[in-house]
Amino acid sequence: MQIVDLHCDTISEITVRNEALLNNRRHFDLERAKKAGICLQIFALFSSSREADSSLREILIQIDKFYHELEQNYLRVFQILGSNELQKVGQTDKIACLLHLEGAEAIGTDLAVFRQLCRMGLRSIGLTWNYSNQLAGGIAEGGNAGGLTRYGKDIIKEIERSGILLDLSHISEQAFFEALDYYNLPVMVTHANARAICNHPRNLSDEQLKVLAENGAVIGLNQVAHFVKEGKATLEDFLNHAVYISDLIGVKHLALGSDFDGTDSLVLPGVEAYATLEQGLHDRGFLPQEVEMILQRNALRVMKRVLNAI
Ligand SMILES: [Zn+2]
Repeated sequence: MQIVDLHCDTISEITVRNEALLNNRRHFDLERAKKAGICLQIFALFSSSREADSSLREILIQIDKFYHELEQNYLRVFQILGSNELQKVGQTDKIACLLHLEGAEAIGTDLAVFRQLCRMGLRSIGLTWNYSNQLAGGIAEGGNAGGLTRYGKDIIKEIERSGILLDLSHISEQAFFEALDYYNLPVMVTHANARAICNHPRNLSDEQLKVLAENGAVIGLNQVAHFVKEGKATLEDFLNHAVYISDLIGVKHLALGSDFDGTDSLVLPGVEAYATLEQGLHDRGFLPQEVEMILQRNALRVMKRVLNAI
């Protein structure tokens, strides 16, 4: 089965470690991804700097690494820039790659920097990582995080106007709901789970899940152990989130967002083990067409809707 994965941190990881995308000892590389059936991977750019200029510098270096790896592996990969490339997903042996910015510190308050990053191939963005910035409140700052700033509202309109995917992982709850008011296309929460199953702030409350369903969103189920279960998390614990969210809002909102290379402790050892997750979905009673929806169709539906909107 072909798989779309909505979030990995492999580019920032292999930039720092000076490793290759083709094969490495991290969670994700192209050789293992190909064997596992990955047909589209979203690659996050990430800087831990909270200062705009130093963050932008790190992001530019990671963009350079991304394009270097695309050039090195041009027989194995292609980049998603718009609807033309999206139509080729799964129709070729090549893995589709889509560039995402996780936390928009690098943008500061400058829409011009956002637009320039889009010209450099960016097609997906989340306004914050865990901490608040000049655009929005971040989830790690608790109930006082605040919502969207006026710059945050401006950039959401620009994101919509540009036909760029909006990722609401990591954003404060207030900003989450405000963003859904301001952005009129389906959003993605690329890597999060259900708070009713695992009570972590990075996971989504039932209220959030229901609003996401109204929006037509997809949620990429996250493999990070402490977002799956307190203590040791197994594949069965991970599948509990899939069953819960599907029962609450419907299977058409489920997708996968592994968080490979984002942290050490994940449910699967790496991308090579994705087949066990697929089998697990079957074993938990999802019908073959529902498994296909979770693995790829739901995510592609939102991407086609948003990237076609340009
Ligand atoms: Zn993340």
